[in-house]
Amino acid sequence: MIPLTPSKIVCVGRNYAAHARELGNTVPDLPMLFLKPPSALLGPGETIRLPAVSAQVEFEGEIGVVIGKRLWRADLAGAERGIGGFICVNDVTCRDLQKRDGQWGRAKGFDTFCPLGPRVVGGLDWRALEVVTRVNGVERQRATSADMVVSIPALLAFVSEIMTLEPGDLIATGTPAGTGPLAHGDVVEVEIPGVGVLSNPVREGDR
Ligand code: ZN
Repeated sequence: MIPLTPSKIVCVGRNYAAHARELGNTVPDLPMLFLKPPSALLGPGETIRLPAVSAQVEFEGEIGVVIGKRLWRADLAGAERGIGGFICVNDVTCRDLQKRDGQWGRAKGFDTFCPLGPRVVGGLDWRALEVVTRVNGVERQRATSADMVVSIPALLAFVSEIMTLEPGDLIATGTPAGTGPLAHGDVVEVEIPGVGVLSNPVREGDR
């Protein structure tokens, strides 16, 4: 079951310097935003489907921020008060389509490409969150919110200058270094200590 029904999913690209470098990119001087459709949402334990059109589907373990109160043109203090909680997110991406298209809507928009869970947890310090990604039990990514280029409140404030953030909206705060491919039969886990573990199996074929 999907633990959250956001009206929108706002994602941030290249918010960890080491991840930008591993893909041959520079760190942007302002947050680079894109959106994932709510139809991509997937609950804990549900199956990520590899679309036949892509030969390179990759995991991106991320810290998800759930909005607690409406934010519009928030300052940093207001943005911090607007944090409702945190959740593990996997920003599943067709890396080949992302490179080919330039725009990221197709590469990141397939059904099942936004697993999140296991639950929303509030009351944690946004400065001290850690995110760990494992594939088949092997650790592939580990970073903390202190490694982000733009902090969580600064991201929320920046986004709220563009679009009103409603309670329940989800901000995926970018992935650290170590992204890599997913294959049929894999199990991918994203863990935020204090929040829990999001685990999803991977299968070939469209739903
Ligand atoms: Zn991402």
